[in-house]
Amino acid sequence: MNAASYVSSLFDLTGHTGIITGASRGIGAGTAEVLARAGVHVYNYSRSKMEESVEGAEGKVLDLPGDVCDTDAFQKALEEVISREGQLDFLINNAGISGKYPAEEFPEERLDRILETDLKAPFLLSRMAYPYLKKSAYTGRIINIASMAAYMGFSGVMPYNMAKSGILGLTRGLAEEWKEDNVLVNAVSPGWIQTRLNEGFFRENPDRKAAALSKPMLKRFGESREIGYMILFLLSGASLYITGQDFAVDGGARSHGF
Ligand code: NAP
Repeated sequence: MNAASYVSSLFDLTGHTGIITGASRGIGAGTAEVLARAGVHVYNYSRSKMEESVEGAEGKVLDLPGDVCDTDAFQKALEEVISREGQLDFLINNAGISGKYPAEEFPEERLDRILETDLKAPFLLSRMAYPYLKKSAYTGRIINIASMAAYMGFSGVMPYNMAKSGILGLTRGLAEEWKEDNVLVNAVSPGWIQTRLNEGFFRENPDRKAAALSKPMLKRFGESREIGYMILFLLSGASLYITGQDFAVDGGARSHGF
């Protein structure tokens, strides 16, 4: 086997099908594009359609509109994928929101919405996907998107800190519980990627943007696609001995320290 065939036998995901939540834009969209180029049939489950379509990929990205907090809608989306493709090989819990207030003033309704979107939904959606994932011919995968906020305290975003820390517990717990069920569960923690999640914050606080850029060893923001490359690895045949782990893709920010 030549080198190209060897690498492609590990990373060519032609024939794989999965759902990514929140791929209408940002990290989810960048990841969906990477996966479609690797041959995957990717389903974007978010409230709006993908803002930019993916052209020229061997795989494809299709929209399944829905809210991660609406489990009835997600069940219908799952059934739609199964009826079209006959299989589900992965779920990427990527959809996420935040909100910025001092802890002592954080509105309770916003707290509930962040915890529901960023933590409760990944659990509920994972267990809904589980019956299909355990039948995957490629080994079922769940990838949860965590954050540096799972490891460090960021002020003003307490529910986000709480939810992302919880995502690591969810990742380890599900990996343990489903270890004999053909399902691997891992997390990816992005560093600063410029998306709508943080664009307003950086616009209003240019000094914080400069401070954020000073943290990664690599001194630049990451690209959404660079999160997708790690996810490609975690969905591939090269990662079958990995479960219950979190992988930082943050330009060395966590190692540099804050
Ligand atoms: P983004 O550009 O704001 O995208 C968020 C995505 O989540 C959108 O596609 C949005 O789609 C979807 N979404 C939000 N609420 C939803 C809901 N209730 N139901 C369905 N979809 C929903 O943010 P991003 O930066 O790409 O964030 C993606 C993930 O990466 C999040 O989990 C975030 O916490 C994490 N992360 C981001 C960074 C960063 O620096 N950007 C760093 C660490 C971790 P609709 O609005 O169309 O529903």
